[in-house]
Amino acid sequence: MSFSATIRRAGRFGLYFALPPRCPACGAITADVDLFCDGCWGEVEFLGGGCTTCGLPLEATDAETCGACLAEPPPLARIRSAVAYGDTARSLVLRLKYGRKTALARTMAPMRRPLGELTPGALLVPVPLHRRRLWGRGFNQAALIAAELARKSGGQADPLLLRRSRHTPRLKGMSVSERRRAVQGALAVRDEGAVRGRDIILVDDVYTNGSTAAACARMLKRNGAASVELLTWARVVRPTTIR
Ligand SMILES: [Zn+2]
Ligand SMILES: [Zn+2]
Repeated sequence: MSFSATIRRAGRFGLYFALPPRCPACGAITADVDLFCDGCWGEVEFLGGGCTTCGLPLEATDAETCGACLAEPPPLARIRSAVAYGDTARSLVLRLKYGRKTALARTMAPMRRPLGELTPGALLVPVPLHRRRLWGRGFNQAALIAAELARKSGGQADPLLLRRSRHTPRLKGMSVSERRRAVQGALAVRDEGAVRGRDIILVDDVYTNGSTAAACARMLKRNGAASVELLTWARVVRPTTIR
Protein backbone atom coordinates (compact mmCIF):
# COMPACT_ATOMS: atom_id res chain seq x y z
CA MET A 1 0.00 0.00 0.00
CA SER A 2 1.34 3.42 -0.94
CA PHE A 3 2.09 5.98 1.69
CA SER A 4 -0.75 8.29 0.61
CA ALA A 5 -3.24 5.41 0.61
CA THR A 6 -2.17 4.56 4.16
CA ILE A 7 -2.70 8.16 5.19
CA ARG A 8 -6.10 8.19 3.49
CA ARG A 9 -7.07 5.01 5.26
CA ALA A 10 -5.88 6.24 8.60
CA GLY A 11 -7.72 9.48 7.94
CA ARG A 12 -10.89 7.63 7.22
CA PHE A 13 -10.69 5.56 10.38
CA GLY A 14 -9.71 8.63 12.34
CA LEU A 15 -12.78 10.42 11.07
CA TYR A 16 -14.93 7.41 11.79
CA PHE A 17 -13.91 7.32 15.42
CA ALA A 18 -13.91 11.08 15.83
CA LEU A 19 -17.40 11.50 14.42
CA PRO A 20 -19.74 8.74 15.58
CA PRO A 21 -23.14 8.76 13.87
CA ARG A 22 -25.61 11.04 15.57
CA CYS A 23 -29.40 11.21 15.70
CA PRO A 24 -30.43 13.61 12.91
CA ALA A 25 -33.06 15.18 15.16
CA CYS A 26 -31.40 15.69 18.55
CA GLY A 27 -27.71 14.94 18.00
CA ALA A 28 -27.49 12.00 20.44
CA ILE A 29 -24.98 9.30 19.43
CA THR A 30 -26.65 6.41 17.56
CA ALA A 31 -25.68 2.97 16.24
CA ASP A 32 -25.70 3.93 12.57
CA VAL A 33 -25.95 6.94 10.24
CA ASP A 34 -29.37 8.39 9.42
CA LEU A 35 -31.01 6.58 12.35
CA PHE A 36 -33.05 8.39 14.99
CA CYS A 37 -32.25 7.71 18.64
CA ASP A 38 -34.85 5.68 20.57
CA GLY A 39 -36.41 8.79 22.11
CA CYS A 40 -36.86 10.62 18.81
CA TRP A 41 -37.91 7.45 16.96
CA GLY A 42 -40.69 6.87 19.46
CA GLU A 43 -41.95 10.40 18.91
CA VAL A 44 -42.18 10.20 15.09
CA GLU A 45 -45.71 9.64 13.81
CA PHE A 46 -45.69 8.07 10.35
CA LEU A 47 -48.60 9.01 8.12
CA GLY A 48 -50.39 6.79 5.62
CA GLY A 49 -53.75 5.89 4.15
CA GLY A 50 -56.60 8.37 4.60
CA CYS A 51 -58.47 10.20 1.85
CA THR A 52 -57.18 9.11 -1.60
CA THR A 53 -56.89 12.76 -2.54
CA CYS A 54 -55.83 14.87 0.44
CA GLY A 55 -54.54 12.07 2.69
CA LEU A 56 -56.39 13.25 5.79
CA PRO A 57 -57.71 10.47 8.04
CA LEU A 58 -61.20 9.25 7.15
CA GLU A 59 -63.30 8.70 10.21
CA ALA A 60 -65.85 5.89 10.50
CA THR A 61 -66.73 5.70 6.83
CA ASP A 62 -66.31 3.29 3.90
CA ALA A 63 -65.68 6.17 1.50
CA GLU A 64 -62.18 6.48 0.03
CA THR A 65 -62.39 10.21 -0.55
CA CYS A 66 -63.36 12.76 2.08
CA GLY A 67 -66.40 15.00 1.78
CA ALA A 68 -64.38 18.17 1.23
CA CYS A 69 -62.42 16.68 -1.70
CA LEU A 70 -65.64 15.29 -3.23
CA ALA A 71 -67.42 18.64 -2.87
CA GLU A 72 -64.60 20.63 -4.47
CA PRO A 73 -61.74 18.65 -6.04
CA PRO A 74 -58.54 20.48 -5.01
CA PRO A 75 -55.91 21.56 -7.60
CA LEU A 76 -53.53 18.98 -6.08
CA ALA A 77 -54.72 15.56 -7.25
CA ARG A 78 -53.00 13.87 -4.31
CA ILE A 79 -51.24 15.01 -1.15
CA ARG A 80 -48.88 12.66 0.67
CA SER A 81 -46.48 13.23 3.57
CA ALA A 82 -44.10 10.90 5.39
CA VAL A 83 -44.51 12.04 8.99
CA ALA A 84 -46.64 14.30 11.18
CA TYR A 85 -44.99 17.62 12.06
CA GLY A 86 -44.12 16.79 15.66
CA ASP A 87 -41.05 17.60 17.77
CA THR A 88 -38.64 15.30 15.89
CA ALA A 89 -39.82 16.33 12.41
CA ARG A 90 -39.71 20.00 13.39
CA SER A 91 -36.19 19.64 14.73
CA LEU A 92 -35.02 18.13 11.43
CA VAL A 93 -36.73 20.80 9.33
CA LEU A 94 -35.28 23.66 11.40
CA ARG A 95 -31.77 22.17 11.41
CA LEU A 96 -31.90 21.72 7.64
CA LYS A 97 -33.26 25.22 7.01
CA TYR A 98 -31.50 27.38 9.56
CA GLY A 99 -28.67 25.16 10.80
CA ARG A 100 -27.49 24.60 7.21
CA LYS A 101 -27.32 20.84 7.87
CA THR A 102 -27.94 20.13 4.20
CA ALA A 103 -27.03 16.43 4.59
CA LEU A 104 -30.32 16.03 6.50
CA ALA A 105 -32.11 16.02 3.14
CA ARG A 106 -30.74 12.46 2.88
CA THR A 107 -32.59 11.48 6.04
CA MET A 108 -35.82 13.01 4.76
CA ALA A 109 -35.69 11.47 1.29
CA PRO A 110 -36.47 7.76 1.90
CA MET A 111 -40.23 8.37 1.71
CA ARG A 112 -41.05 5.01 0.20
CA ARG A 113 -44.61 4.74 1.39
CA PRO A 114 -45.95 8.16 0.35
CA LEU A 115 -43.89 8.10 -2.86
CA GLY A 116 -45.32 4.67 -3.70
CA GLU A 117 -48.83 6.09 -3.63
CA LEU A 118 -48.03 8.78 -6.20
CA THR A 119 -47.98 8.51 -10.00
CA PRO A 120 -44.86 6.50 -10.98
CA GLY A 121 -42.41 8.18 -13.34
CA ALA A 122 -43.64 11.68 -12.51
CA LEU A 123 -41.24 14.63 -12.60
CA LEU A 124 -40.12 15.83 -9.13
CA VAL A 125 -40.34 19.62 -8.86
CA PRO A 126 -39.49 21.52 -5.65
CA VAL A 127 -41.82 24.25 -4.45
CA PRO A 128 -39.78 27.42 -5.16
CA LEU A 129 -38.53 29.69 -2.41
CA HIS A 130 -38.92 33.48 -2.28
CA ARG A 131 -35.93 34.90 -4.08
CA ARG A 132 -34.95 36.98 -1.08
CA ARG A 133 -35.01 33.88 1.13
CA LEU A 134 -33.03 31.94 -1.44
CA TRP A 135 -30.34 34.64 -1.47
CA GLY A 136 -30.27 34.75 2.30
CA ARG A 137 -30.15 31.00 2.83
CA GLY A 138 -28.20 30.04 -0.26
CA PHE A 139 -30.26 26.92 -0.94
CA ASN A 140 -33.84 25.76 -1.27
CA GLN A 141 -34.42 22.90 1.18
CA ALA A 142 -37.25 21.56 -1.04
CA ALA A 143 -34.80 21.31 -3.97
CA LEU A 144 -32.33 19.33 -1.81
CA ILE A 145 -35.07 16.88 -0.82
CA ALA A 146 -36.28 16.57 -4.45
CA ALA A 147 -32.72 15.85 -5.64
CA GLU A 148 -32.26 13.16 -2.95
CA LEU A 149 -35.67 11.64 -3.80
CA ALA A 150 -34.70 11.47 -7.48
CA ARG A 151 -31.36 9.85 -6.58
CA LYS A 152 -32.96 7.28 -4.25
CA SER A 153 -35.96 6.43 -6.46
CA GLY A 154 -34.18 6.58 -9.82
CA GLY A 155 -36.62 9.31 -10.83
CA GLN A 156 -36.09 12.68 -12.43
CA ALA A 157 -36.05 16.06 -10.68
CA ASP A 158 -36.21 19.50 -12.28
CA PRO A 159 -35.22 22.01 -9.56
CA LEU A 160 -35.62 25.11 -11.75
CA LEU A 161 -38.90 24.38 -13.52
CA LEU A 162 -40.87 26.65 -11.19
CA ARG A 163 -39.54 29.89 -9.78
CA ARG A 164 -40.74 32.96 -8.00
CA SER A 165 -40.56 35.76 -10.52
CA ARG A 166 -40.88 38.48 -7.88
CA HIS A 167 -41.28 38.85 -4.16
CA THR A 168 -44.82 38.03 -3.03
CA PRO A 169 -46.39 41.09 -1.34
CA ARG A 170 -47.48 40.90 2.28
CA LEU A 171 -50.59 38.76 2.31
CA LYS A 172 -51.88 40.06 5.61
CA GLY A 173 -55.23 41.79 5.30
CA MET A 174 -55.91 40.37 1.82
CA SER A 175 -59.02 38.38 0.98
CA VAL A 176 -58.69 34.71 -0.06
CA SER A 177 -58.99 35.55 -3.77
CA GLU A 178 -56.55 38.48 -3.50
CA ARG A 179 -54.04 36.22 -1.78
CA ARG A 180 -54.50 33.57 -4.42
CA ARG A 181 -53.84 36.08 -7.19
CA ALA A 182 -50.81 37.55 -5.39
CA VAL A 183 -49.15 34.15 -4.86
CA GLN A 184 -49.98 32.98 -8.36
CA GLY A 185 -48.71 36.20 -9.97
CA ALA A 186 -45.31 35.69 -8.34
CA LEU A 187 -44.82 32.25 -9.92
CA ALA A 188 -43.29 31.52 -13.31
CA VAL A 189 -42.72 28.34 -15.32
CA ARG A 190 -39.27 28.18 -16.95
CA ASP A 191 -40.19 26.01 -19.89
CA GLU A 192 -43.72 25.18 -20.96
CA GLY A 193 -42.38 22.34 -23.11
CA ALA A 194 -41.04 20.62 -19.99
CA VAL A 195 -44.49 20.77 -18.36
CA ARG A 196 -46.91 19.92 -21.16
CA GLY A 197 -48.43 16.46 -20.74
CA ARG A 198 -46.23 15.61 -17.74
CA ASP A 199 -47.30 14.18 -14.41
CA ILE A 200 -45.64 16.33 -11.78
CA ILE A 201 -44.91 15.72 -8.10
CA LEU A 202 -44.34 18.94 -6.20
CA VAL A 203 -41.87 18.46 -3.33
CA ASP A 204 -41.63 20.49 -0.12
CA ASP A 205 -40.30 20.04 3.41
CA VAL A 206 -43.50 20.83 5.33
CA TYR A 207 -47.15 20.98 4.30
CA THR A 208 -49.03 23.52 6.37
CA ASN A 209 -52.07 24.93 4.61
CA GLY A 210 -50.97 24.18 1.04
CA SER A 211 -51.81 27.59 -0.44
CA THR A 212 -48.41 27.95 -2.16
CA ALA A 213 -48.48 24.35 -3.40
CA ALA A 214 -52.02 24.89 -4.71
CA ALA A 215 -50.88 28.03 -6.55
CA CYS A 216 -47.98 26.03 -8.05
CA ALA A 217 -50.41 23.31 -9.13
CA ARG A 218 -52.72 25.79 -10.84
CA MET A 219 -49.75 27.37 -12.61
CA LEU A 220 -48.42 24.00 -13.81
CA LYS A 221 -51.85 22.90 -15.02
CA ARG A 222 -52.32 26.16 -16.87
CA ASN A 223 -49.07 25.29 -18.65
CA GLY A 224 -50.38 21.90 -19.66
CA ALA A 225 -49.35 19.53 -16.84
CA ALA A 226 -51.34 16.27 -16.99
CA SER A 227 -51.53 15.99 -13.20
CA VAL A 228 -49.97 17.63 -10.14
CA GLU A 229 -49.46 15.91 -6.78
CA LEU A 230 -47.71 17.03 -3.60
CA LEU A 231 -45.16 15.10 -1.55
CA THR A 232 -43.73 16.54 1.67
CA TRP A 233 -41.50 15.20 4.41
CA ALA A 234 -43.80 16.43 7.19
CA ARG A 235 -47.38 17.59 7.48
CA VAL A 236 -49.03 19.76 10.09
CA VAL A 237 -51.86 17.51 11.19
CA ARG A 238 -52.89 19.38 14.34
CA PRO A 239 -52.88 23.18 14.35
CA THR A 240 -51.13 23.18 17.75
CA THR A 241 -47.93 21.84 16.20
CA ILE A 242 -47.36 25.01 14.11
CA ARG A 243 -44.51 27.02 15.50
ZN1 LIG B 1 -32.73 11.91 18.92
ZN1 LIG C 1 -59.74 14.62 1.10
